Amino acid sequence: MAPRPHWLFGDQLGPHFLDPRHGGPDDKAPVVMIEARSVLRRRRFHRAKAHLVLSAMRHRAAELGDRVTYVRAETYAEGLEKVRGRRASSPLTVRHPTSRRALDFVGGLEGVEILPAKGFLVSHDDFAEWAGRNKGKGSGKGEKGGGQPQPLRLEGFYHWVRERHDLLMDGDHPAGGRWNLDHDNREPPPRGQDTLDVRGPWRPSEDDIDDEVRRDLDRWERDGDVSFVGRDGPRSFPATRREARTALRHFVAHRLAGFGRHEDAMLAADPVMSHSLLSVPLNLGLLDPAECVEPAEQAYRSGDAPLNSVEGFVRQIAGWREYVWHLYWHFGEDYRHRNALRHTTPLPDWFLDLDADAVTANCLSTVLAQVRDTGWTHHIPRLMVLGSRALQDGWDPAAVTDWFHRCFVDGYDWVMLPNVVGMSQYADGGMMTTKPYTSGGAYIKKMSDFCAPCAYRPDHRTGEEACPYTAGYWSFLHRHRTRLAANHRTARAVKGLDRLGDLRELLDTTAERGDAPP
Ligand SMILES: Cc1cc2nc3c(=O)[nH]c(=O)nc-3n(C[C@H](O)[C@H](O)[C@H](O)COP(=O)(O)OP(=O)(O)OC[C@H]3O[C@@H](n4cnc5c(N)ncnc54)[C@H](O)[C@@H]3O)c2cc1C
Repeated sequence: MAPRPHWLFGDQLGPHFLDPRHGGPDDKAPVVMIEARSVLRRRRFHRAKAHLVLSAMRHRAAELGDRVTYVRAETYAEGLEKVRGRRASSPLTVRHPTSRRALDFVGGLEGVEILPAKGFLVSHDDFAEWAGRNKGKGSGKGEKGGGQPQPLRLEGFYHWVRERHDLLMDGDHPAGGRWNLDHDNREPPPRGQDTLDVRGPWRPSEDDIDDEVRRDLDRWERDGDVSFVGRDGPRSFPATRREARTALRHFVAHRLAGFGRHEDAMLAADPVMSHSLLSVPLNLGLLDPAECVEPAEQAYRSGDAPLNSVEGFVRQIAGWREYVWHLYWHFGEDYRHRNALRHTTPLPDWFLDLDADAVTANCLSTVLAQVRDTGWTHHIPRLMVLGSRALQDGWDPAAVTDWFHRCFVDGYDWVMLPNVVGMSQYADGGMMTTKPYTSGGAYIKKMSDFCAPCAYRPDHRTGEEACPYTAGYWSFLHRHRTRLAANHRTARAVKGLDRLGDLRELLDTTAERGDAPP
């Protein structure tokens, strides 16, 4: 019997997705790929992201050669119709997709078998077992159970993944004796330096396929079919397996050793610092997480990278990335609609249009320009500059999630929901984090070089030079005073409000600013 064709989504592009030894389709199964134009029409994506995904899909199709039928269609349904012809229920396999919408779609199709998810270390069943055992335990650190069920926490999950996958373990103990080296990984940027003293990240060269994608995007834009935000090109992230492997090797050999120390620091002239940029090939499925953490551990064992850097990197991939993936499914469909803080302000146009030049605050202007120009910025600008602005100004969390999804080259539904709804906007009321992540300008000043040339002063709460983050922080605490006073992690900060003699003036200033760019 001829093997069933296998439908490959655009974020399942590595060879491991097709490997029968890893629950994939038959070796000889023909492959179907569908480039659906409606995906681009539905939302205003960053142009560099549209370019990257199409380039990666078309590169994969070129590699698969005669084995693949590459269909360009308006929708997935239309694409499938083209492939299946009149036999609408002819058998087909597909890997578990990464979004609920796609899973519901394939689940509703006749004749389609959904194969196990790939691209993560932990299976759905294993996570469910862990979550079942750990509901109610919290991290143990600073959390008083008091008989109340505590939400799941990353730390316990991360230890369990390390043990289960024998990652960075010395027998039963974490390598070096400590699970958590975050303390060593929160240094401010080195004084007096514009850039970190580290070799730059690997960048690809474009080819004919990129040219073809760019021509298509130009034409669709000209025809008014689609519209984009942000600037495109040259492509700066891997689009093929070979490129992804090169980027990974380059990172481990030249950049991993310095990853830890300044992981949370920001430099205006050095947006990437020691970050890996591997979220892009990982989320396209071009790399498997196991092949990223294993060489990192080897670098530690061979003395080529210190433990704080390697643990920090392993924590991000085997901890955070896995945790976020599973929380996406664990929290359920309602999660995307959560709005615990009842924030309803629409996103202002300057933010939607990535209009960095309209913004005076140097941190926000710099980071928004990074997003405009590359579709990427590292986790602290995402959390403490972009997300924090949205949280302080009470922007609608669903619209903020949509913005991140559209504007980031590594943004997908599964990774956006927990990171934005939970981590960044606290719209889940604490299911994911123990407190809202936001700060005044003092944190940004300490962790970056943004403030020195800025027109605002981080220690000014009111007046012409009031830092929008400092004023915004106090006004956020004031707005949610009751809720935050009841949280032991924010209660002290709320008490600080009573010591502010100029709170009224501060609130008037922030209200006057409205949605004008800060
Ligand atoms: C508001 C907000 C939005 C985010 N949106 C995304 C997103 O759309 N896509 C995305 O992959 N990450 C997202 N993250 C997580 C993190 O910011 C990015 O993974 C990271 O900045 C990507 O750059 P990098 O590859 O250089 O990461 P590195 O700092 O080098 O980290 C290594 C890897 O760890 C993984 N990782 C680390 N933290 C997370 C996390 N919280 N969630 C998932 N993976 C993580 C990534 O795969 C990353 O490549 C978001 C974080 C925040 C606060």
